[in-house]
Parts: sequence; structure tokens; C-alpha cells
Amino acid sequence: MTTKCAVKQARNAKSNRFTLHLGVTARITGRLHFLRLAQMLPRNVVDREEGRTRMTAMHTDVHATAKPNTAKERYRTVIIGGGTAGITVAARLAQHGEENIAIFEPSEKHYYQPLWTLVGAGLASADESVRSEADYIPEGVKWIKEFVEEIDPVAQTVTSRSGKKVGYDFLVVAPGIQLDWDRVPGLREALKTDSVSSNYLFELAPKTARLIENFRGGTALFNHPLGAIKCAGAPQKIMYLACDHFQRRHVAKHSHVIFASGGKAIFGVAEFRAVLEGVVARYGIDTRFDHDLVEVHGDRKEAVFSRNVEGKIERVTIPYDIFHAVPHQSAPDFIKRSPLATPEGWAAADKLTLQNPQYPNIFCLGDASSLPTSRTGAAIRKQAPVLVENLLAFMNGKELTAKYDGYSSCPLVTSHDHVLLAEFDYDGKPTPSIPYINTQKERYDMYLLKRYGLPFLYWQLMLRGRA
Ligand SMILES: Cc1cc2nc3c(=O)[nH]c(=O)nc-3n(C[C@H](O)[C@H](O)[C@H](O)COP(=O)(O)OP(=O)(O)OC[C@H]3O[C@@H](n4cnc5c(N)ncnc54)[C@H](O)[C@@H]3O)c2cc1C
Repeated sequence: MTTKCAVKQARNAKSNRFTLHLGVTARITGRLHFLRLAQMLPRNVVDREEGRTRMTAMHTDVHATAKPNTAKERYRTVIIGGGTAGITVAARLAQHGEENIAIFEPSEKHYYQPLWTLVGAGLASADESVRSEADYIPEGVKWIKEFVEEIDPVAQTVTSRSGKKVGYDFLVVAPGIQLDWDRVPGLREALKTDSVSSNYLFELAPKTARLIENFRGGTALFNHPLGAIKCAGAPQKIMYLACDHFQRRHVAKHSHVIFASGGKAIFGVAEFRAVLEGVVARYGIDTRFDHDLVEVHGDRKEAVFSRNVEGKIERVTIPYDIFHAVPHQSAPDFIKRSPLATPEGWAAADKLTLQNPQYPNIFCLGDASSLPTSRTGAAIRKQAPVLVENLLAFMNGKELTAKYDGYSSCPLVTSHDHVLLAEFDYDGKPTPSIPYINTQKERYDMYLLKRYGLPFLYWQLMLRGRA
């Protein structure tokens, strides 16, 4: 669909004239919301045929579940979450001439989280990673500074923590991932001690830098929890940066660096795994796979891991002098208990179109979504244009033709001046986006990209809907 065409049709929709293609074309004039109409007609479902996704009318008992929409406030499009995904989608929708959009986002600050790895190594300041959220809410978009607590996809409403109920015609779900600090007894308390930190919190990333700076030898422990986390490379990036620092400060020979991971290997994609195994060997890192963090005793500086030995669960205690902790993560609780949740709790999205399989006027992306790829901002940069194209198509009763291939990327910082840029798709196939150079090795130019290029891309282009 051309942009011009989309804008024209969005305008038509705004004047409340909708054209639906459900086998027969229906034109409805008056105050009418697309999905409410869909609830009265046989429900639309996504039907895959010869690789194309199209809207098909199917019999359903949707009248039985339709609820009256009691919200006083109503928007054409509501976006849940004003982080990487929510703002990028809002900017792109606004660019296409979409109006009457609201974003639920409780935070006054917007964070560029990928920088926290470098903050934790003392290579960037925390201040550089934070800006005012207000500066990134696109013009004309209503910012509702509240947490969403409930989604009712039948009534087409969302309800906030304060009880505010807002109606929508189309919903974009992007509330990010939840850090489950309390899943490991003692972890939250240990973070308050002088020996434990985590780059997963803006407030603590500078503390990581202090721990590494002040380390004079002993055991430096790094963990990677079992299950999905955001930026699966982050737990090991800070370890390589610490090792490089220990070498530069001549404390490496007095150090025992342990990587205790719930996973089975250092990285999922074979081509990058081979390079990273070389990095691990170079620094003399003691890797302990199939070790999932289950308890921390901050007072005695011990972390306890569970390990599956031939079907029997064993507990392994590792004493540490410093510990970089990464918490288990999951979908936000309100998503888990919503009708959108997959059995694992994620906001369900078709892996190609990003449309919710049950409620076609809902689209999901980013860390909270069920998309089976590595959860990164880089992945969202590719998801957002697909989502917006398909959402606009859906608004205009057209086929959903844009497809997301699972692209994700992780700039694995392996030293103070080198990065291995891992880019791959759903099939775990490397998908290098930079031509002419070999990105399957550690490179200085990729470090410059990570340190300076990507933050610029994020703040100036991606969040403005330009990249
Ligand atoms: C240490 C670290 C290093 C990383 N390194 C990289 C990297 O090198 N490259 C890369 O591409 N990615 C990296 N990432 C991952 C990247 O930052 C995330 O994948 C990305 O920000 C996810 O975007 P999102 O919009 O899904 O979630 P977020 O950007 O986290 O935004 C979610 C937003 O939703 C809001 N929210 C939460 N709950 C609710 C609610 N109930 N109602 C309304 N709003 C809500 C939050 O306040 C937040 O603003 C890193 C992350 C970390 C922590």
C-alpha cells in the first residue's frame, strides 16, 4: 500500500466511513467503530493461504461475548507502553496521518537501555541513557501517564491502575518485559550490599562500574537466568568488559571469573558462538552451563544455583567477591492474566504479521510479545514498520501483506574497543546488514557503531519514526 493511499483511507476512516472487505463490501456511514461492527458481523480471523495473510469471514458466537463499551474516553488507537516499541509505533502512525492516538506510559523518563552495558563498564555516563519522555511523544498524541492494569478485548477497553477506563478501536500492546527480582529469594536484598549489582536497572549500572573498578582479585561471578530475557547478550557483555578491565589493571591473574548460565551454550547462533567461545578462552572464563540462580545470601556472599544432573536437581553454591546479577524475566503480570496471553504469558502475536490471532484489531510487539526471537531494540526497529503497515491495512480492510522475518541483533561488546555484531533471523541464520565487511568477527568499527552510531540512530531516527 502506498503512503498516499494509506493517508487517504485513514482520513476516510476518520470521517467515519469504513470500507470492509468480507467477501461482500460493506460501506457504513455514521458513528461506528470498526471492531464493534466486526463483533456484530461474523468475526474476522486471519487465514493463511499460499503464504498470504488475508481477512476471512467465519462463523463465530461472538455476539454472546460482546460487552457494552462503558468507557467515557475513547481513542481510535491506544498504545500500551511508551518505551522503544510504543514510541516508534506512535511516531510511524502519526507520520501516516493517523490521529486520535493515546499512549499509556507511567514514566516521565525514556531510557536507552542498550547503553547500560557501557555505563556498567564506566565507558558511558548513565545520564546519556535517559531523556524526557515528553520530548518523544509525537505531536498530537495524547499521553496518559498511568499503568494499564486490565485489557478487555471484547468491550475494547483498557483500565488503568487508578480505575480510568478508556475505549479503543485498535490496540497496540508494547509494555516491555517484567524483571522478576523476587523469584530468587535474597536477590533483592543482595543488591543493597557492596558486592552485588545489575546493569538491568538504570540506578545500578553505575554501581557495576564501581564494583569492577574496585575489584582487586578473587571471584567475579556473572549469571544468566533460565528463560527469556531482554538482550540475551547483556549478561555476558559486561563480563567481557570486566575481564578486559581486570587485564588492563593487572588483576586478571588474581581473578576467577565465573559465568553461571541456565542455558546450554554461550550463544544460540553457531557462527557467533564459535567466536564467543574464543573470547571465553582468551579471558580464561570458567563457564558453568545449566546453572540457574535460585537463591542469594548477600550477607555471606554466596549465590546458589540449581543444576539438573541426569534428571536429579542438585544445588550448587558459588561464593563470590563481586556478583553481576541478572533477574529472571517474564511478561508483565497484567498481560499474563489478560485474554491476550499465550500459555507462557506473552502477548500473543502472529510471528509474521504481529496481529493477535484472536482479536484482529490488536497488534503486539517488543519484549512483551510472543514473537519467538531475541528480545532487543534492534528487533523492534524491524517489527515496528511491519506492524504499522499491517495495522493501517487492517484499518482499511486490506490484506496484511507485511512480514517480519524475526530479525534481531546483539552488539556483543567483547572488550573496551571491540564488538561482535550478531544479526540473525527466526531460523538463527546470520543476516548481516552492513555490506562489504565481515561482521562475524570482533571489530573496532562495530564498537564505534555501538558507542556512538546506535544511540544516534535510536534518539534521532528510530523514535522519530525515521529508521
Ligand atoms: C542492560 C541491557 C542491555 C541491552 N542491550 C541491548 C542492545 O545492545 N541492543 C538492543 O537492541 N537491545 C538491547 N537491550 C534491550 C532493549 O532495551 C529492549 O529490548 C527494548 O527496550 C524493548 O522495548 P519495549 O518497548 O518492548 O520495552 P521497553 O523499552 O522496556 O518499554 C516498555 C514501556 O512500557 C511501560 N509500561 C510497563 N508496564 C506498563 C503498563 N502496565 N502500562 C503502561 N505502560 C507500561 C514502561 O514504563 C516502559 O516505558 C538491552 C536491555 C538491557 C536492560
